[in-house]
Amino acid sequence: MREHSDVVIIGGGPVGAALALALADSETDVQVLEARADLDRPAHKRTLALSYGSRLILERLNVWAALRTVTEIRDIHISQAGSLGMARLHAAEESLPALGYVVDYAELDSGLHAALRRTEVAVVTAAHVKDVASYAGYARARVEIAGVTRHVTSRLAVVADGGTGSSMPRQTKDYAQHALLALVSAEVGPHGWAYERFTAEGPVALLPQDDGYALVWTATPERVKALLELPDDVFLRDLHAHFGDRVGRFLSVSSRNSFPVNLSYVRETIAPHRVIIGNAAHILHPVAGQGFNLGLRDAWELAAGIRDSRHEELGSLRMLKNFQGGRRLDTAGSMFFTDLLVNLFSNDIPVLRHGRSLGLLALQQIRPLKRFVARRMIFGAQG
Ligand SMILES: Cc1cc2nc3c(=O)[nH]c(=O)nc-3n(C[C@H](O)[C@H](O)[C@H](O)COP(=O)(O)OP(=O)(O)OC[C@H]3O[C@@H](n4cnc5c(N)ncnc54)[C@H](O)[C@@H]3O)c2cc1C
Repeated sequence: MREHSDVVIIGGGPVGAALALALADSETDVQVLEARADLDRPAHKRTLALSYGSRLILERLNVWAALRTVTEIRDIHISQAGSLGMARLHAAEESLPALGYVVDYAELDSGLHAALRRTEVAVVTAAHVKDVASYAGYARARVEIAGVTRHVTSRLAVVADGGTGSSMPRQTKDYAQHALLALVSAEVGPHGWAYERFTAEGPVALLPQDDGYALVWTATPERVKALLELPDDVFLRDLHAHFGDRVGRFLSVSSRNSFPVNLSYVRETIAPHRVIIGNAAHILHPVAGQGFNLGLRDAWELAAGIRDSRHEELGSLRMLKNFQGGRRLDTAGSMFFTDLLVNLFSNDIPVLRHGRSLGLLALQQIRPLKRFVARRMIFGAQG
């Protein structure tokens, strides 16, 4: 580990690694401090839906072509349990090859690190950052490596630790929901379709992955705990009863795991010579598959800001305020959109149910509205 570099990135998850790659061919001297000792062991086990906009960024980073198992989302079906309203979005209507793509978190993470290994960027593993202090001309990270505490200074410290390690105060809204994740197969294969079904307990999503689906089933913590403990055949029957018959009966399920879901964010993401991005700055409900897409756009825009800065300006409040200003609409829009979906749909109030039904019908029928929603799913709030 070097004791000083221009930019220190704390956390080599997908967002931190993407930022490091975006800076790899610049004049800036970058090092990444990552807590994992073994980069082949991903920090999370989950499937990610990537927007078309994220694909474009990953292509620019020379990572996209190396991802082996990418499944296209060409059509999205949105429905509500107990009502007739539904909407369908199609890539062909947007003149795009796909509305989005499904990739495994582990594969994306290892693809980014494989690309980083071909650069000069130093990735220090088993480096646990304890805190980051911000001073007038620099930032200083306190790092523990093999039980020894050391310090690294930089013109700019970027906190991209997923929100687990940082001691920054967070605003949190608890949805009182957990998400159950698993891979399932069904009588009707995906053929590019993703399904989002809103129920009073919480949304259920089926994302196409190879010949089966990645399932994200949100419900109360008690219900998810019970679902985790069911024998496979009973679980598959319950899923069919809950999701409906759109893909026929469910045939198999992998091992299941679960997460609490909430909205959590840091109000003040910048300080002199320190900035927070990705999940470290904002954790969203997985309902709209926005979290990583938003974090990747943070990384991309920050890399542009760093490249455009003169060395003496790097990490200055002026530079960071410019970055923050540019990200405000996208961040607030993604948080608002996701939170609205959860609040509006996760209940059984009759007047809201009818309103939602009409909303889905309108989405299906009104072309500009459909295009508005599709573009936000593809390119984020600034789409
Ligand atoms: C159930 C679920 C489903 C999701 N589905 C989607 C989806 O479909 N689409 C989407 O876009 N997003 C989705 N997300 C969100 C997505 O997983 C996150 O937005 C994304 O992982 C954020 O990446 P990150 O690099 O900011 O953080 P992380 O992926 O958490 O990576 C943080 C990294 O920092 C390291 N680290 C932690 N602490 C320290 C420390 N103290 N010192 C050094 N290193 C440290 C960790 O080891 C890790 O490598 C989902 C999330 C959940 C929970």
